[in-house]
Amino acid sequence: MPISLSPDLTPPLLSWYAASARVLPWRRDREPYHVWLSEIMLQQTRVQAVIEHYLRFLAVLPDIAALAACEEDKLLKLWEGLGYYSRARNLQKAAKTICALYGGVFPTAYADIRALPGIGAYTAGAIASICFEQPRAAVDGNVLRVCSRLCNDATPIENPAFRRDVALALEEIYPAGQCGAFTQALMELGATLCGPNTAPRCAQCPVASFCQGRAAGTASGLPVRGKKAPRREEQHTVLLLRCDDCLAVCRRPAQGLLAGMWELPNVPGHLTMEQALAAAAQLGAQPLDPLYTLRRTHIFTHITWDLLGISIRCGTKAPGLTWASPAALAGEMALPTAFRQFLEATP
Ligand code: SF4
Repeated sequence: MPISLSPDLTPPLLSWYAASARVLPWRRDREPYHVWLSEIMLQQTRVQAVIEHYLRFLAVLPDIAALAACEEDKLLKLWEGLGYYSRARNLQKAAKTICALYGGVFPTAYADIRALPGIGAYTAGAIASICFEQPRAAVDGNVLRVCSRLCNDATPIENPAFRRDVALALEEIYPAGQCGAFTQALMELGATLCGPNTAPRCAQCPVASFCQGRAAGTASGLPVRGKKAPRREEQHTVLLLRCDDCLAVCRRPAQGLLAGMWELPNVPGHLTMEQALAAAAQLGAQPLDPLYTLRRTHIFTHITWDLLGISIRCGTKAPGLTWASPAALAGEMALPTAFRQFLEATP
């Protein structure tokens, strides 16, 4: 059934947003580079974690030209801790495209924005509406949740037709001259009063009188989610090979999960201590003695890694591995959280 939203909900929503929006660094202006960067960082990552990364990233790469010219290792180091590193690589690809095709100035036409690497319908809608006042919806999980509650619609939100219908219904009621504020107000409502994992705070909601889910008493049970495929679990043994004060690292394959990133040497399965010493010897590291073991997990979208870390003191810096100093690990090398957590948990 097509979705319909009342245009009358926009004034109270906008007033509420003007009075109660959280102060966030990317809301200081409507510079497309800032909005774009924040929207990409906020995908899959909590606001609090993004703030620090966002400010650091902009301090080093203040504009699109600087992002386009950045050396990849430096870029990945700036992204360290945010995960989903393909986002950083796509940002840079898009920055290079903007420099090559548009003289370094962010394009304003929706089709041109949408065609940039790593920019999907959501991000293109956010940039077009917030930066260029175009009536383009930005439909993410927050907005889907709000709209499924407002319309008391139990269609699973993974359904692409539902997402498209929500976008069309919103674009019907975008208020001229306040498109950016409307996009941000919807996002804000979905991130605060009508948030995930808690009961909606309808008593404080500026659009409560338009909300069919609230009226029907069904809002807490919405949105409906389709069944997710269970995460696959993989076991790995991570070798923390130490020589002097250095730690052995290597590069992951150029394709696949965490493509091209630094990692700690690791092998499939959970090894016994003897097997781990043998694996270290095979890498040429002359293992002397085991120091300690640590168990950690890391969750990706589709996979859970069950990781057994074994720290081993080695007698030689095997030439097939890279031996990273503490300063290099802290300042230059991007080590994904799956591995860095072992460094941070070192006894
Ligand atoms: Fe969400 Fe409640 Fe507002 Fe409806 S009234 S949009 S359920 S917070």
